[in-house]
Amino acid sequence: MKRSLIIHYHEINLKGNNRGWFEACLQNHVTSTLKGLKYRRVRKISGRLVVELDPDSPADAIERRLAMVFGIANFVSAWEVEAGIEAIERGLEFLIALGDFKSFKMDSRRGTKNFPLNSQQLNERLGAFVQQKSMADVRLSNPDRTFFVEIVDDKAFLYLNKIPAAGGLPQGTGGKVLCLLSGGIDSPVAAYRMMRRGCRVLFIHFHSFPHTSAESQDKVRRILGILSRYQLESRLYLVPFADVQKEIVAYAPAPLRVVLYRRFMLRIAQVIAAREKAKALVTGDSLGQVASQTLENIQTISSVSAMPIFRPLIGSDKEEIIEIARKIETYDISIQADQDCCSLFVPRHPETMARLQQVEEAESGLDVTALVQSCLKPAVRESIAPDFPTVHFHE
Ligand code: ATP
Ligand code: MG
Repeated sequence: MKRSLIIHYHEINLKGNNRGWFEACLQNHVTSTLKGLKYRRVRKISGRLVVELDPDSPADAIERRLAMVFGIANFVSAWEVEAGIEAIERGLEFLIALGDFKSFKMDSRRGTKNFPLNSQQLNERLGAFVQQKSMADVRLSNPDRTFFVEIVDDKAFLYLNKIPAAGGLPQGTGGKVLCLLSGGIDSPVAAYRMMRRGCRVLFIHFHSFPHTSAESQDKVRRILGILSRYQLESRLYLVPFADVQKEIVAYAPAPLRVVLYRRFMLRIAQVIAAREKAKALVTGDSLGQVASQTLENIQTISSVSAMPIFRPLIGSDKEEIIEIARKIETYDISIQADQDCCSLFVPRHPETMARLQQVEEAESGLDVTALVQSCLKPAVRESIAPDFPTVHFHE
C-alpha cells in the first residue's frame, strides 16, 4: 500500500480569496522545508495537502520537519487505497494486524459526496467488518483504537492517529517584521510568536565588540539556527553599539543610560526595517520584568518610533516564557553566560520612571542623527540557515 502524510490545516482563516493564497504559501513552505529529504511529491487535494512517500522515504525525519511548519493543525501518517469498499476493507485488515485492541470506533469521512455510502453508512459497514475480524467491541468514547477513513476523490486514506503540529498561520502570510534580538531568553520567544502568526522575521543584534567578547554574536547566530527551523532562512544585522554607549555614558545621567540605549536601538532598527520594507519592530519586553520595562519607560522608549512596536510577551510572566523557550530549544543557548552590550556601563540604580522631558534634555547634548549613522555604516548582514535537530523533536 502507498504511504502518505496528510496535512490538515485550520480552515477558520480561509475565507474567500485568501484561501488559495494561504494554501499556496503553506504548500510552498512544506516543499521548501522537505528539501533534501526523499519523497515523491506534495500535492493539494480538497482542503488538504498530501505528501506522497516512497517506500524508502525517511518518514520520521519528514514528520519532524512537518511538526515545525506553521499553519498545520495536525497531520497523519496514512495508507492510501482505491476508494472502493473492498480495497478499504483489505487496508483495514492490515491496520488491524498492527497491534491488539479490545475496543475501537470508526471515524469515516467522505470528502467526495458521490461516494455511494454516506459517513454514517460507512461507519456501520466498516465497523461491522473490523468487529468481525478483530472480535473487539465498538466503544464510542475512549476506545483503545480509532480507525480513521477519509475518502477524497478516488482515493481512501486510512490512519490510526493524528499527530499534533505547530498550528498558527503559514510563513509569509503575516508580512515582514524586524525583531531586536539580544541573546537572552525573551526576544527569541517573541520572534517565535510572530513567526507563528505567519510573519517573516528579520533580526537585528547590537553588540559592543571589541569592548566585550564576540560571544554575544555567536550566541545570536546559534539561536537563529534554531529559529530558522520555522522560516528556513533568517537575515541578521549585527550592529556595533559601543560608540553610542560611550557618548551616552559621557553626556547623560547614569540612571537614564538603559532608556537611552533602547531609544537608540529603536532609531537604528527603524532605519533598517524601512530599508527591508518591514512594517513593525518586535521586542521581548514583558511588563515590569526589569527596570527598563516599566510602563513609564516603555512609553518614553517607544516615543522615538513611528513604526508599530510589537511586544508579544508583554503580558507573559517569566515562567511562561521559559516554558516556550524550552519547548522550542532556545533556552539552553540563551542561559549561557555572555557579555551583552548592555552589561557595559550599566548603572547600579537605573531610573524606573524616565520622563520624556528628562530624556530629551539628556539627549540634547548628543548628535542623534550622526550617532545613528555611525552605527549603520559598519553594520553587517548575514544569512543564517536552519539547524534541524537530529534527535527526536518533542512537541
Ligand atoms: P531578553 O531576554 O530578550 O534579552 P531581557 O529580559 O534581558 O530580554 P532587556 O535586556 O531589558 O530584557 O531587553 C528588552 C528587549 O530589548 C529585548 O527583549 C530585546 O528585544 C531588546 N534588546 C535588548 N538588548 C538588545 C541587544 N543587544 N540587541 C538587540 N536587541 C536588544
Ligand atoms: Mg537582555
